[in-house]
Parts: sequence; C-alpha cells; structure tokens
Amino acid sequence: MKTVLPAPAEANARQSKRYGDNTFYHEFRRCDWDEVRQRIYSCTVADVERALMRAGHGSDRDFMALVSPAADALLERMCRLSRWLTRRRFGNIIQLYLPLYLSNECANVCTYCGFSRTNPMRRITLTEEEVLREARAIRQMGYEHLLLVSGEENRTVNAMYFNRMVRLLRPYFSDLMLEVQPLTEAEYRQLKESGISTVLVYQETYNEKRYPVYHPRGRKKDFRYRLETPDRIGSSAMHRIGLGVLLGLEDWRVDSYFTALHLRYLQRRYWQTRFSISFPRLRPAAGCSQFGEAVTDRQLVQLICAWRLFDEHVELSLSTRESPHFRNHAVQLGITAISAGSRTQPGGYATHPEALEQFEIHDDRSPQQVAQMLKAAGLEPVWKDWDKIFH
Ligand code: SF4
Repeated sequence: MKTVLPAPAEANARQSKRYGDNTFYHEFRRCDWDEVRQRIYSCTVADVERALMRAGHGSDRDFMALVSPAADALLERMCRLSRWLTRRRFGNIIQLYLPLYLSNECANVCTYCGFSRTNPMRRITLTEEEVLREARAIRQMGYEHLLLVSGEENRTVNAMYFNRMVRLLRPYFSDLMLEVQPLTEAEYRQLKESGISTVLVYQETYNEKRYPVYHPRGRKKDFRYRLETPDRIGSSAMHRIGLGVLLGLEDWRVDSYFTALHLRYLQRRYWQTRFSISFPRLRPAAGCSQFGEAVTDRQLVQLICAWRLFDEHVELSLSTRESPHFRNHAVQLGITAISAGSRTQPGGYATHPEALEQFEIHDDRSPQQVAQMLKAAGLEPVWKDWDKIFH
C-alpha cells in the first residue's frame, strides 16, 4: 500500500499547531552558533576548575568549559573524576546490545552514509521470515537488548512495518530499541505499545546553516522537523530517548554543547524519561568522500568525560565504530553500554552477510571476546537489565 506523506513544511505547520511554541526549536533559536563557538574557545582553565567542582550536575556553562580547548590541560583529572562518578552511579556494569539492520532502503541523500539514495547498491528490506532467522542467530550470541535500525524510506519501511517486526521480535528479546526515521507522536505511542522501550534520533549537526550541505535531498533535509523529534518521542511517554551528533561533520565542541542544551531541555520537560548519549565518529563508507573536521582519540576521551561530569545519570553508549584499543580504555571512563559483534547491513548475521555495510566497523571482536575484555578490566558485562514486563 502506498503511503502518502505530508510535505515537510506541512508537517512543521501541523507540529506547530499541536505543540505551539513549546518545543526545543524555540529555545534553540535563541542561541547563535558562532557566538557559542566564541564563548567555548574563550573558556579558561579557571572555568574548567569551577566546572569540576560541580561534577555530576553541571550547568550548560560548565559543559562549555569541559569541552573547551582549555580543558585539555586537566584531562587526566577529568578522566579520574569521570571514572569515579560512573562507578558510583552505575557500579561495574556495562550493558551489551546489538544493532539489527532491518532495511538499507533510503529516500534521503546524506553525504556521509553508505545507504544514501544515490549510492548504487542492492536494496534489501528483511521479510518476517528473514527477521526471525536473524533473531535466532542474535539470540545464540547471547543478546537480550536489540537495537532495530533502518534507512529512511517511508513508503516501504514505515511505522506499520516497524510495528509488525517489533511484535514478531518481542518474544525473543527483553529490550527492543529503535533508530529509524523521525515519526509522529501517535506512531511512537503505538510502537511503545508494541514493545519499543527506547528511540534514538541523532541530529547529526545542530549547525542549521550547514545542515543542508550534508542533507541535500529527501525529508531529512528538514532541520526543524528532525530537531523537534525528541519532543514528539517525549510526548509519547517513551521510556528512554537517545541523542547525539555525528562527530566530524562540524565543530564537535559546539555540536556537543547544543546536544547538552537539548538534553537539559528534555530532562526538564519529560522528567520521567531516561536519556542516553552516543558519540558516533564519522567512519569510511562506500560511495562517501565528504569528511569534515576529524575528532582525535584524545578529544573523544575529553568529550566522554565532559558528558559524565555534566550529568551523573545520563547513559553513555559507544559502538563498534571505535577501535578495540580505544574501546578498551573508554569503558573505564564513563561508558555504560557498548555493542559488540555488530553487522551494519540488513541480514548481516544470517541472511545477507555479503550486503554493503552502512559504514565500516572498527572493532570486529566477537561478543565473547569483548565480554572477556570487560571482565579482565574488572567490569561486569550485562546482557539483560530490563524486562518487557516493565513496559
Ligand atoms: S544517514 Fe540515514 S537517512 Fe541518511 S542516507 Fe543514511 S540511512 Fe539514509
């Protein structure tokens, strides 16, 4: 059945009517990218020292100092404090999850992604039978937490399809999360009813002027509609919302500051919801050549610590985009969830292992090897910490 989609402008008008001026977009518009950048780059070591005094529950000004170049001089202290706060709040636990790509169909053009519409490749959307085959392979790996991922193709891979797959998978997994195109509040409510606990939606960049450079075609080019998605997820009373930007498109310090503002806004407004932050760094992908400012390992460590020092409770997640060496160290600093053994193509575990990946993974260790690494580091890999009975 063909789905008729509202044009982005129409969707915005409808959203404005529904939510009034009461979304993050209106708070966001009060800040200027260049001014924020200038304030971050003028932070001093004294500002960072002040932020460390309030570690665990910082203000947005503290976060500014923690991601500033001045904080580099205090990185070792930040690491020690971040580690201590994480262990105090989360114990030695690291949760393990796995992504299941349902489809690589996508109607958008994103300059950094292998699934981009103009990239010539075989397009696959898993059938119910294939999804069940993948589910059995993933269960054999020991996973209970599954992240469902897809490209953004509303005509075929839409809320109706997701609901069907979620109901199919629900008996196999204790926790189902979703990372797909922005949906409506009603669709999120329905997906929660079907068994989704968490929705992740990354803004990619908060630089509104530069956003169209990376998203020239498709619905994703509507910056505002994407920015207001967490409001729709929050209004649906979803258990958890995941935020993040794609590190390496624009200045990571400024983008992360806007993510922190977004988090604080959502925490105030949807106070019963839990939140997680991810740190995807740009990775090579088939057909993609556009790379912005690289984020070094040291800078990514600073960012992970900045998040923990800003917010003691927020969950921090790290994917297999990062190298084994980096992940071995990062799990000691503030990370609370990691994936392992991931495949970033639909059917990658049992059905179509030859299909093109969304991006190249960097840590190809098996889940058992990663669990072993965690144990050797004195941490406890947790395959299940949530049950559908709580939904
Ligand atoms: S990032 Fe998402 S929306 Fe953009 S091309 Fe890739 S799958 Fe499609």
